[in-house]
Amino acid sequence: STPMASEKEAALAATPPDSDSPTIFDKIIKKEIPSTVVYEDDKFQWKFFIHTRTRAACLFLYFLESRLFLHVNMPTVQKIFKCVLAFRDIQPQGPTHILVIPKVRDGLTGLSKAEERHIDILGRLLYTAKLVAKQEGLDDGYRVVINDGPKGCQSVYHIHVHVIGGRQMNWPPG
Ligand code: 5GP
Repeated sequence: STPMASEKEAALAATPPDSDSPTIFDKIIKKEIPSTVVYEDDKFQWKFFIHTRTRAACLFLYFLESRLFLHVNMPTVQKIFKCVLAFRDIQPQGPTHILVIPKVRDGLTGLSKAEERHIDILGRLLYTAKLVAKQEGLDDGYRVVINDGPKGCQSVYHIHVHVIGGRQMNWPPG
């Protein structure tokens, strides 16, 4: 079957998005399975901290998050950490195909689960899409896609932005 067909099959067979169960992307985040990372921002945002004690507490949280990879359900932590990862899709649909994901899912199994507390991370995902497109030299254009749910052909229930480029796109999409 074509990659397109198998992707659709994977989407239709995927776990329903109502659970807290981990996905393959958790293993990619934890580097338990290899991926080609093209962008990762895990730098500590010092400008958020004035008090040393707050800084120490946040460093501790940062340590927990990076070592144990707890799924900290805290919007503040999302804001404090630049928490986006971009890596190459294993089944590229063009010369460039990158996935941009939040390192902490925080309930965002898909776009349809977005709530107001996710506005910051959603913005970061799109801004990172722009950064990686530029990094990849996609100066003549590219496509940004978010698949949602079975009919949207979503197969991994950890929100992700596809950045596809390096060839002429068509419209309407398949
Ligand atoms: P969706 O269909 O959910 O929008 O996109 C999921 C994407 O994840 C697909 O394009 C698929 O090729 C990609 N993918 C699935 N498993 C892996 C993996 O283990 N590594 C990488 N790099 N990409 C994966």
